[in-house]
Amino acid sequence: MNFLKSIIYGSEGSYDFLGVPVKFEKMETHYSFSNKQKKSSLSKSIACLADLCVTSKSFAILTGGYTHCLIHEYGHAFTCKLLKRHVCGIRISSNSALGRTSMLCNTLPSYQKSIIDTAGPFLGISYSCCKLISALALKKYISRPVAFSIAAGALIWILGEIFYALFSVIKKDGGDFGQIAKRGKVHVIAATGALLVPTTIGLTVGFKLLMK
Ligand SMILES: [Zn+2]
Repeated sequence: MNFLKSIIYGSEGSYDFLGVPVKFEKMETHYSFSNKQKKSSLSKSIACLADLCVTSKSFAILTGGYTHCLIHEYGHAFTCKLLKRHVCGIRISSNSALGRTSMLCNTLPSYQKSIIDTAGPFLGISYSCCKLISALALKKYISRPVAFSIAAGALIWILGEIFYALFSVIKKDGGDFGQIAKRGKVHVIAATGALLVPTTIGLTVGFKLLMK
C-alpha cells in the first residue's frame, strides 16, 4: 500500500523493487533545460515550460510521472546488474519525478556504459508503449476520458524522454544522452536507433487513441 502511494503520489519511503533498493525522498534537483546561450524566445519558452514540468509535483501525479521515473531508473539498474556490476540503489525525488541510480560501473568498457545509459529511456518509452497498447486493446471497455488520460500521460512521457535526450546531447551534460554524446557520434547514433522503434510505436498508437 505504501509502495502504491509512492509510485502514484511520490510519498516518501524505502522499498525493494525487483531486487533493487528504491528510496522516495525529498531531493535537491538541479536539472534545467534552460541555459543562457538560448537566443530565440521560442526555444527559451519551450525550455521554461519543460523546467516547469520536471519540477512540478502535480504534473508528476497527473501524468503518472513517479511510476515512469521508477521504470526509467530500473532500466539502468537492471542492465547494470545484467553486466554483473553492483547497484547501490535508486533515489526518486518526492517533490518532482526525477531520479538517480547509483551504481559501480566505472570500469566497464564505454559501449557497455552507453548500453546502461540507453536502457533507462528505452524502458521508460517501452513502458509508455505498453500503456498505450493496453488502452487501445481495451478501448471498447473503457470510457473516452480514461483512454484520453492514459494516452496523454504516456505520450507526454515519450516526448519528455526524447526532449530530455535531445537537450542532454546538445549540452553534453550529466544526463543519459549527455554522457553518451561524450563517448562519440557512433554511441549517439546507436542509442538513438534503439529508441526509434518504441518511440514510433508509442507515438502511432498514442495519436490513434487520441483521435478515436
Ligand atoms: Zn536515466
